[in-house]
Amino acid sequence: MWIPTAAREVALATLIVALMVTGRSTLVAQSPAPPRTTAPPVTDVLLVPDAVFDGGVRHQGWAVLVRGERIEWAGPLSSAPMSAGVRRTPLPGTTLMPGLIEGHSHLLLHAYNETPWNDQVLREPLAYRVARAVVHARQTLMAGVTTVRDLGSEGAGYADVGLKRAIDEGIVPGPRMLVAGPAMVATGSYAPKGFAPEWHVPQGAEEADGLDGVTRVARDQIGHGIDLVKIYADYRWGPNGETRPTFTRDEITRIVEVARSSGRPVVAHASTPEGMRRAILGGVSTIEHGDEGTPEIWQLMVARGVTYCPTLAAPDATSQYAGWKKGVEPEPARIAKKRETFAAAMAAGVRICFGGDVGVYPHGDNVRELELLVQWGMTPLAAVTSATAVNADAFQIADRVGRVRAGLLADLIAVQGDPTSDITALRRVSLVMKGGAVVSPAR
Ligand SMILES: [Zn+2]
Repeated sequence: MWIPTAAREVALATLIVALMVTGRSTLVAQSPAPPRTTAPPVTDVLLVPDAVFDGGVRHQGWAVLVRGERIEWAGPLSSAPMSAGVRRTPLPGTTLMPGLIEGHSHLLLHAYNETPWNDQVLREPLAYRVARAVVHARQTLMAGVTTVRDLGSEGAGYADVGLKRAIDEGIVPGPRMLVAGPAMVATGSYAPKGFAPEWHVPQGAEEADGLDGVTRVARDQIGHGIDLVKIYADYRWGPNGETRPTFTRDEITRIVEVARSSGRPVVAHASTPEGMRRAILGGVSTIEHGDEGTPEIWQLMVARGVTYCPTLAAPDATSQYAGWKKGVEPEPARIAKKRETFAAAMAAGVRICFGGDVGVYPHGDNVRELELLVQWGMTPLAAVTSATAVNADAFQIADRVGRVRAGLLADLIAVQGDPTSDITALRRVSLVMKGGAVVSPAR
């Protein structure tokens, strides 16, 4: 999560909720209490789009055969294995591709121009936040995002673990989730802050210190069901509110050692060169934000195989919430600097993740980050690859999702047009399939 330096209260925007509920052949427009979905029947479905983007290459004239929850076959339509049991589904004008993998979401947050982060953490009841998150999960899935890496509940404890379970059990529709739970921060570094020192104010993440302290908290979070450990390697806690490193290198190394022992990665929020350096050398798998990355840091990331999630859409959104008239006024210094560092990261060959810090801006608008990646110099092909195969590799889930390949889960979307040449095609999603079940549109 990225909190704007000068968050302003803005009038509440109306939340428009498209109530769509999962099911292989039904779409129920009702609320509350969507019906439990059942496992898809074992029926072969041949999806016949104009082309298939497999996570690396767009193949004109390909088709995909889905059996149960998995991809059975993908290849040229002319050699598709047809039999009496195969139901053919034409998808004219579309590119069929892996469902998008959002690399940095906060389903327990909603847009900061509706309610500032501080007030979400301190004033919104947990049940209210979860109720919103259920809606966010559905909006995310309907936008074609079939997996999210949700990087911290921001004061909502393990609500993400519970939401993930409800989705996995088919109680509510939503993407597959990789969850971070409360996330970890060094004592005194995080937020909300600025209160009288005699008050103990609940924080947006769990505090931990020292080698024993971080060991205990990491293990405790793992025991509560997280999929990855999220740490804040720096934050705005300098003497004048500037961003400074938090955890020591030894603490980060220990957190990574503990998490890795359990088979889990560690990801780091880090913007300063020193915070990034400690996290990279400590062994984290991804760096989030990285606003002040230097050539040395980018080289270090390449050498260590660390993936970079630039989260371009978050400062773009918060700057506008703070009054920047985008397209009319010049870019704020922060945005100009980020544009510079992002270009340097790309030039250095750092592996770029698709992850926008969605939650700062509305859920379901995930494509905003991909559009910015392209506007800032990535090719559309590289961007859609990032949103599928690259993220699957970086998040260690490539054995399940992220490509169109026999044996992987049938998390597939059809979009009108060719997203490998026009990224805005990702806003024209005409089919969402998760685990072989069509969740959008209604049949
Ligand atoms: Zn975030």
